[in-house]
Amino acid sequence: MFRKLPLTASMIPMFALSLWMTSCQRPLEQSPSQRLGALGQAQNSQLRAHAARTPRADGMQVYFGNLHTHTSYSDGILTPREAYRMSAGNGLDFQAITEHNHAAAGGTDGIWLTPERYEDLKAAAKEFNQPGKFAALYGQEFSTISSGNHMNVFNAATIIDVPNGDYKQLYEKWLPAHPEVAFIQFNHPNYRSDLGLAPQDTHNPTRSAAQSAAERAAEIAEEQHHLAEMQAEAKLFPQSRSSSNLFNDYGYDDYNRNFAAMAQAANPYVRTLEILNGPGTSPKPIGKADAKNEADYFFYLNEGFKIAPSADQDNHYAHWGSLHTGRTGVVARALTPEGVYEAIRARRVFATEDQNLELVMTANGRYMGEVLPYTPEVNLEISLRDPDEPTASYIVQVFADEPGKEVAKPIFQQQVPAGRNQLKVSWKPSASSESYAFVKVSQLNTDGQFDDAWTAPVWVSPSRR
Ligand SMILES: [Zn+2]
Ligand SMILES: [Zn+2]
Repeated sequence: MFRKLPLTASMIPMFALSLWMTSCQRPLEQSPSQRLGALGQAQNSQLRAHAARTPRADGMQVYFGNLHTHTSYSDGILTPREAYRMSAGNGLDFQAITEHNHAAAGGTDGIWLTPERYEDLKAAAKEFNQPGKFAALYGQEFSTISSGNHMNVFNAATIIDVPNGDYKQLYEKWLPAHPEVAFIQFNHPNYRSDLGLAPQDTHNPTRSAAQSAAERAAEIAEEQHHLAEMQAEAKLFPQSRSSSNLFNDYGYDDYNRNFAAMAQAANPYVRTLEILNGPGTSPKPIGKADAKNEADYFFYLNEGFKIAPSADQDNHYAHWGSLHTGRTGVVARALTPEGVYEAIRARRVFATEDQNLELVMTANGRYMGEVLPYTPEVNLEISLRDPDEPTASYIVQVFADEPGKEVAKPIFQQQVPAGRNQLKVSWKPSASSESYAFVKVSQLNTDGQFDDAWTAPVWVSPSRR
């Protein structure tokens, strides 16, 4: 990514333009493709630099996007058309507008999506879709924080009319009746608050300090130790004790606080969990996402959820695609809503703090995200590509785990020098129960800055022969 590029400054003209257009209620007389074209020219050309990417050998390609945004159709600003236009101009390949759905919550805050607005959002997405250039997705952010946290539901034909927080009804009745729904996402997780523990110590290292590879490696070890400690505390917590209404994320309370039962209900639909989110209520772009939910990714995987990590912006202001450099990456056959959704359903997904780092893992020749039959040895191949940072080196880690015990631990760690972008690691999965492995990398730049990225796991199931 462009460490020294002030995204903020490049956004000012666009932001001002958008505000002006809104205040003047200026009608849009151009076709969507004209608007996208004009927008591309209006933006800093560097932001489009990553658009020319090379397809992989099998014809698939990595695309970068944002799966969580708002406009004035719920509690953000401006309109879906302005949000799609701005994100495309900022170089995103896909963006979902996911307005709050509080209609069934009996809310009085006036920020929920109405059926009329939802129809217009769908129409806007249709206008802004350009196969091969931009995929405009839409969804709804279901529930409220106190009633079970937020979940994004993508591509539903209608407004979700399930009562607020009734995740059991959503998983067992509404979703089976809505096959058009592409997938669902666990938004801004915080398992510690859900278990009634003290707020998560995000343990965010000082991002401004330059670091050597050795310093970063030591810090990574410290982060792992911290993560394991938090997990151990969660395991010791007597879960029956609390009656807090925060004991309810994504339907935990609806399944008697039994993660296994909840995972069984959610797994047919859930595909992603936000390892990065926002801060979308910050009016100004920031350098890095501050809510790093890495511990949650480890936690929910260990509880049996079949999820990939996503890196979203949750925009509530006019910084779609420029709030920070974090991106959700997908490996897709085509840049269309169908292509992006198919990739996410297959969990060919990674999350990155860098706006164009391509991180792909295969296992025995199959992509990340799959559930493979058991073999005593699994050949993991990790590929790294960052066209504008050829001098970066990487610390690559492979984590492996079986659900239900402690969280995933590193089984491999290596520093990869600049210029090398392929790595092979052999993993011996459990022969008796399902296990999974995934990759985390720290990209180290010559200026001492770093960006982290995580892949979806591959699962190996001995019962699948
Ligand atoms: Zn939310
Ligand atoms: Zn949101």
